Amino acid sequence: MPTPPDLSRLCIHTITTRPWNIYKAVENYARKGIGGISVWRDAIENSDLNEIRNLINDSGLRIASLLRGGFFAATDVTARLAAIDENRRAIDECAAMGSPLLVMVCGAAPGQSIHEDVDQIRAGLEAVLPHARSCGVRVGIEPLHPVYADTRSAIATMRMANDLCDQIADTSVGVTVDVYHVWWDPDLKSEIERCGDAGRLFSLHICDWKTPLTDVLNDRGIMGEGIIDIPIIRSWVEAAGFNGLIEVEIFSNRWWATDQTEFLDKIVRAYSEHV
Ligand code: ZN
Repeated sequence: MPTPPDLSRLCIHTITTRPWNIYKAVENYARKGIGGISVWRDAIENSDLNEIRNLINDSGLRIASLLRGGFFAATDVTARLAAIDENRRAIDECAAMGSPLLVMVCGAAPGQSIHEDVDQIRAGLEAVLPHARSCGVRVGIEPLHPVYADTRSAIATMRMANDLCDQIADTSVGVTVDVYHVWWDPDLKSEIERCGDAGRLFSLHICDWKTPLTDVLNDRGIMGEGIIDIPIIRSWVEAAGFNGLIEVEIFSNRWWATDQTEFLDKIVRAYSEHV
């Protein structure tokens, strides 16, 4: 009998198996022997967070993070203040569920320059960090691929995320590395080292970049379906001191339309073979 794969560091994002509600996701991840879960806010809307916390704890899964906060950039001040309030609520949800980390998609607003976006992101983060600290919640800046720099995240590279962390200089803010967004970056290795040296590499997301992509948002691949060298990026991240959960985050209309139990089996196999 071959030894079963060690899945204790494997973590699945609820959005990966979007057709399942939080109860089905927890039950099925735990049954497979998967180690962790990251929870998207839409999966717990109108839920009793104490009940969700107990559900996850009782299943044996570790919760890696809540997704997602951010979207700090806006051309009008009312929207920027509303975003800050919304992020404080997301931090409260982390505290209620026992999530140690809130991941930030920082935002970008068409109609203003990227420099204004970055200034507003910094101001937004600085406004919410005292609340995060008081709740014992850390905040991870996730740089997004520059194809999203107009509407989703003006923070487009690891270097920009590291620079922002340096400017804010608060130990509760760090970086989430997502291979889908940063695989192409010629500075990736050195910026991962810089991130690790500063003690701020908080989490790691994986999936694959297919060629061709039919949809830049919702056509992500399972590890091994695309061109990202995940093992080398994982080795850099681990050499930088990261030894936490490895989180599978796949937005895919194609995979969401299939049987989710079989999809989860494929993810587990791909984790053993391509990560
Ligand atoms: Zn991600």
